[in-house]
Amino acid sequence: MDCIFCKIIEGSISSTKVYENENVCAFRDINPMAPVHVLVIPKIHIPSMDGVNNENSKFVAAIFEAIPKIAAAEGLKNGYRVISNCGEDGCQSVKHLHFHILGGKKLPEKMA
Ligand code: 5GP
Ligand code: ZN
Repeated sequence: MDCIFCKIIEGSISSTKVYENENVCAFRDINPMAPVHVLVIPKIHIPSMDGVNNENSKFVAAIFEAIPKIAAAEGLKNGYRVISNCGEDGCQSVKHLHFHILGGKKLPEKMA
């Protein structure tokens, strides 16, 4: 499958991984929007938030269990933001479900 993030999971595209377990992979965004910008993805191909269902939601739970661990390891003591862009209006550019962790500075008050 022609999916950049599946290739990152396989290791055929290189990335700076910051966390990994059986279900989850997290790596630094190639184009960081904040001092800390990590992407957390499921280790199965789910196209977007719209593809989450009863069969695969354990991967999403695993992502949300990993996020506080990653935030702590990244030193985000003062807080952070988690975002998942979905579809056209959400400006999703990579069609493999992912959650952005942004932090390391005071983020803009307005989200949209
Ligand atoms: P989206 O716009 O879909 O929510 O976010 C996709 C994110 O993936 C973008 O922030 C973009 O910089 C990041 N990205 C795209 N291609 C690569 C890549 O090959 N490696 C890494 N580390 N990040 C990528
Ligand atoms: Zn994929």
